Amino acid sequence: MMNRRDLLKLTLAGAYCSVSAARHGQLLPAVRGGTSLPATYLVDYSPNHLSDAGFVSRMAEAPPSLLHLGHDCPFTAHWGPRAIPLPVPDMSKYRLLTPQETSERFRAIKTMVRGLHGAGVEIIFPYINSQQMGGDIEKRLGFWEFYDHWDEYRSFGLPPRPQADPAEWLQRDPSGRILFNNPAAYPGYAPQFFYAPCPNNEYWRTWLRFVVGSIAQAGFDGVFVDDNIIHCYCRYCREGFKRYLRSRYTPGELRSGFGTREVDKIEMCSQADKTAWAKAQPAFIEYLGSRYAPGELEKRFKIADLTTPANLDRIGYSFLERPAREFITSLQEKYSPEERRQFGAADLSQLGIERPEDRLRWFETQRFWAWSIGDLLVDLRRAVTPYRKGFVFVPNWGSMQTVDGVEGRRLHGKNVAEWARGADYMMFEEDYRNGFPGRSAAGGFTTHDLQYKFALANGVRPVVLFGGPHGRASVELAHAEAAAGGGGCFVENFDKFSDVRRLYRRFYERQPDLFTGFQSLAQVALAFFFNQAHMENREHLRQVYSLHSTLASVHVLFDFLTEETLHLLPRYRVFILPSVAYLSRAQERTIQEWMDGGGRLIVPGDHPTFYEDAKPRPIPAFGFLLSNLPTLGSPQFKWIGREGLPGLRANAYWKQEGRQSLVTVHLLNYDLDATHEPEPMLDIPISVALPVPVQHATLGKLTAFAPDSSDPSELRGEIRDGRLCFELPELRVYRIVQALLT
Ligand SMILES: [Zn+2]
Repeated sequence: MMNRRDLLKLTLAGAYCSVSAARHGQLLPAVRGGTSLPATYLVDYSPNHLSDAGFVSRMAEAPPSLLHLGHDCPFTAHWGPRAIPLPVPDMSKYRLLTPQETSERFRAIKTMVRGLHGAGVEIIFPYINSQQMGGDIEKRLGFWEFYDHWDEYRSFGLPPRPQADPAEWLQRDPSGRILFNNPAAYPGYAPQFFYAPCPNNEYWRTWLRFVVGSIAQAGFDGVFVDDNIIHCYCRYCREGFKRYLRSRYTPGELRSGFGTREVDKIEMCSQADKTAWAKAQPAFIEYLGSRYAPGELEKRFKIADLTTPANLDRIGYSFLERPAREFITSLQEKYSPEERRQFGAADLSQLGIERPEDRLRWFETQRFWAWSIGDLLVDLRRAVTPYRKGFVFVPNWGSMQTVDGVEGRRLHGKNVAEWARGADYMMFEEDYRNGFPGRSAAGGFTTHDLQYKFALANGVRPVVLFGGPHGRASVELAHAEAAAGGGGCFVENFDKFSDVRRLYRRFYERQPDLFTGFQSLAQVALAFFFNQAHMENREHLRQVYSLHSTLASVHVLFDFLTEETLHLLPRYRVFILPSVAYLSRAQERTIQEWMDGGGRLIVPGDHPTFYEDAKPRPIPAFGFLLSNLPTLGSPQFKWIGREGLPGLRANAYWKQEGRQSLVTVHLLNYDLDATHEPEPMLDIPISVALPVPVQHATLGKLTAFAPDSSDPSELRGEIRDGRLCFELPELRVYRIVQALLT
């Protein structure tokens, strides 16, 4: 959730000097697998933008390409028209604005946005949340107070007040009770409560369409959509699930996958929802009760005890996930397989998914939730089109840095591919304590290459947010890895090193041809099939993360291929398919045909033993292959000619322009920390295998670019045996070497 208190206010001092007030309009839509222009991105949640006379002029000192603000919108999604900061310290202080005050606020926001554009910010957007509603159902406070005064705001274009009370807009658990995703008594909502409306609910959608429309009318260029968490079984979701299935399956596929051609007979799966399952077990309530000292439930959750389901609900789904997992593990350890049958499965990790048709339903239930978020974003885009073309959506996906992070989120309606159709940028909100790239305390290197690569494969531009100790060089590296990763943004949320931001924005915008419209020239592809996670194949994720880190550290260039981009396989010589348990016949055929043409498949871990519908295969696919990972360490696949530079990383791309081609090699030095100026790497021998069409080209100019130097420098190099070879004299943090081939 992006409302951390450590998102600092920006308090820059110095003279007003606009670096680049021209609006470039170069932030074009991302193309799946293709690079786009990187950008600079600043979050500023200061509470007083409208009354702060110096805000616009401070922004003008080093205007970011993208500026992400807090609740500076005419109507907040979760509280209605109120002038509130983000986060809200005490909700009782912020009353509903009158229609007159709302009009004045509208005008003030328009003036501020106009001023920021004039100061050189290209894309400005405030915060909304797709699954938060604040208030008190009983006392009719917060959103309920607004609902009771709804008609007073109709002059703003608000549609007629829905008949259904906001209590009927909320997410529901499998038994139909109100579902809280977070604790109801969440501190940021006190003394009111935190409710979770359903993104599929027609009234909540209508309201969000209005909110986003009013944001566009205030002159903003986009919106940040936070949280996007859904575990809902309400009637809108149950109906939507059927619509979703119809869009994905033919009647014949329904019958073979789910045992019926009639979509109306296929329900969302709740039996495999382990948190929902645990909540229904009396033994879990006892287990949970034993974890809290007397008075603690009251203090933390504002509930007296756990004797009623309603009290248990108020602890919140996300909070209950961990104890539910631990409870199920304790049952698994305590009972024999025979005894565990009383709970529903001999192996409790297989609860609700023992039969292939149930596993498939569970997979589709999770993917439907993610699809719902994509659907919401598309719907909101439609709503703003009359006011603003090119309006930008930046949903928050959360953390991808660890397998646990992904494992949690795949249960919360999160799937990058499903969201991509409604997202221009996608936020990955990572570690706030030790998040900066460079040498890590664990003796390795912290990088965000995985997020950048995965987003590139999915056709969205990633924006990666993190915090922790940092110095000038680590801030430079944070910008550099976004640029090298194919055109995302590093999200700044602090007030130092704005000159680095200015430097990088100028670097990008003066030389867009260095960054846009390239495709990777890696020869090695690694399968990152996110749907395996929904199928509860954690081993695939574990191996993808481990292989990502190994390949990067042994200096092999590689890309991710996803389920949707498997058809790009002919671009690669090697494909690594790690523990992909569920593989369709069509996917198998694509891989087989590529192998018949000379492609080399490597299968670490388990071979595919199921089809995509969870039905077992008679024999595992590609069972004749032995894993042959060590061959990737050979000079054929490496891009560096010597050992001993573990912190050196690269990405390389190419594009054809008429009769000539351009190859860019981005080189980054991760061997740095927050406190010291990095030791430059010297005389680095680089050798990059070229794509087949340009292996026999002639090398024209070879030029090195750096953000901190205005003059590109010429390098000497050659094409030898289909490889581009050169020596980089010095690398401090970041260099791009571009070769012109004819
Ligand atoms: Zn729902």
